[in-house]
Amino acid sequence: RTSTAIAGFENSFAAALAPLTTPWRGADVPDPTLLVVNHHLAEALGLDSADLCTDDGVAVLSGAASPADAVPVATAYAGHQFGGYAPLLGDGRALLIGELSDAEGRRWDLQLKGSGPTPFSRGGDGFAVVGPMLREYLVSEAMHALGIPTTRSLSVVATGRNVYRDGAEPGAVLARVAASHLRVGTFELAARHSDLLVPLADYAIARHYPALAELPASGPDNRYLAFLGAVVERQAALVAQWMLVGFVHGVMNTDNTTISGETIDYGPCAFLDAYDEDAVFSSIDHGGRYRLGNQPSALKWNLARFAETLLSLLSPVPDDAITAATSALTRFDESYDRHFRAGMAAKLGLTDPAVDRTLIDELLTLMQDHRADWTGTFRALAEELRGDPAPLDEVLARDVSAPWLARWRAALSGRGVPAGQIADEMDRVNPVYIPRNHLLEAALRAATAGDLAPFERLLDAVTHPFDRRTEWSDLAGPAPASFSAGFQTF
Ligand code: AMP
Ligand code: MG
Ligand code: MG
Repeated sequence: RTSTAIAGFENSFAAALAPLTTPWRGADVPDPTLLVVNHHLAEALGLDSADLCTDDGVAVLSGAASPADAVPVATAYAGHQFGGYAPLLGDGRALLIGELSDAEGRRWDLQLKGSGPTPFSRGGDGFAVVGPMLREYLVSEAMHALGIPTTRSLSVVATGRNVYRDGAEPGAVLARVAASHLRVGTFELAARHSDLLVPLADYAIARHYPALAELPASGPDNRYLAFLGAVVERQAALVAQWMLVGFVHGVMNTDNTTISGETIDYGPCAFLDAYDEDAVFSSIDHGGRYRLGNQPSALKWNLARFAETLLSLLSPVPDDAITAATSALTRFDESYDRHFRAGMAAKLGLTDPAVDRTLIDELLTLMQDHRADWTGTFRALAEELRGDPAPLDEVLARDVSAPWLARWRAALSGRGVPAGQIADEMDRVNPVYIPRNHLLEAALRAATAGDLAPFERLLDAVTHPFDRRTEWSDLAGPAPASFSAGFQTF
């Protein structure tokens, strides 16, 4: 079945890297219901949201119909999962419909997730269920509202199919949009099929780092070395932003690390309530490999796997290639540190990126020792500057916070700016509303049972994260103690 509800597709990836793609179709959809659609995103992509909401539009968004001008494909990739290499993963329950260009000429992938089995499904059924797809929709849109690079979510359609997880659950398909779905795992696969590596690297450079395409293909300043450095820089900036909002991705396998620098694949992810470097929310992450505090190291490990795939392009002399790759990876630490420190400075109202690192570290230690609410603490510090000590007293006892507060206020006084103005600046970078686990769980439970109202309300709040509103006062605080102990998202 074909549809003209969405048109304008290209397939530059399949054209350039055909061996990494398999033309494919979505499964039939017994009884489609559009649960949520992102009108703003549709508009930004030049799509007519009214068209998306027609039967024909919903058929495309569910995978039951293909746009008349698209050639949907499942893509192949490999990846290291929890440190072990899987030589062939691929889109086991996803379908790349094609690429759309926005008004600025930027190219976006439209991909479905949960659209049925593919040649890459291995043991899986190829389907997805309502709760996790709405979860990805809401968390990715919250991340975008927080200014963090991420895949976006266009819609979730309930399929009317029963999908068996812990018993029968309602099936769903997420439509998501990304600058691309190229992953470190795509390079890991291509590097083992040597004729694909150069076309893939040149494709990724042209699509995501076009300025580097001007550089020569070989020599000491070759484009592939610059490409490696650019991906390291974007991913360092990304993981710093995760840390600044207390986001635990949960499954940072190399197949879930993008070349574009976007956050991808919201599975067992969570936002922290109480600050804890050891926070893990996934029942399968036994060793805490992807715990909060290990995310920068885990990412650097993934980037080392990425660098390995490029070695043959960096220099014809193996020792020189290794030296070049090592020096690009070494810059990760400095880059992460620069982004994290600048972000923490802004959260604390200290615009100087050269802010004393010990002031940051001491706050983190206090918050860790006393399990202070990550999101709440920074808003409370702004209230402290406005002369209201009560919010901070709720997250950290006064005798605990007082010595640090004195040093922080001394650092702030160096700016020579009124305290109220600094508090306002802080409120523009420190969110009030994040997808708190207890709120998201309750909203997904209600949605799975057919009531979307709590989901829509939470979505509204987390996509307006910085502006406190009285009608959302119940959405601002951490979970009750009865909820948090041992909470797992997966
Ligand atoms: P993830 O860790 O969720 O990004 O997925 C890792 C791999 O498992 C990817 O190749 C997915 O396509 C595949 N996968 C996950 N869930 C399913 C499913 N229900 N059916 C088929 N493949 C799946
Ligand atoms: Mg994945
Ligand atoms: Mg996944």
